[in-house]
Amino acid sequence: MSGQKFYKAGEKVGPGKYVCVDCGKEYIMTDSEQDLRHCPSCSCEMYDCFPITHIRPDIKTPEDVNRPPEQ
Ligand SMILES: [Zn+2]
Repeated sequence: MSGQKFYKAGEKVGPGKYVCVDCGKEYIMTDSEQDLRHCPSCSCEMYDCFPITHIRPDIKTPEDVNRPPEQ
């Protein structure tokens, strides 16, 4: 066991990148305390979570996630 924490649909989650454990689809959550939803692609309800700071090196704030800097 790695101690990996998984998140289930319906849980209140904070900002971060959530990856569907079934199909690998990624979701970016930028607000705190919002409901995690079932994956629209495969209806899976289990997600892996990664810290939001690992998404892109040039994205440092939740606002940047919504409006990525131009290349
Ligand atoms: Zn999925």
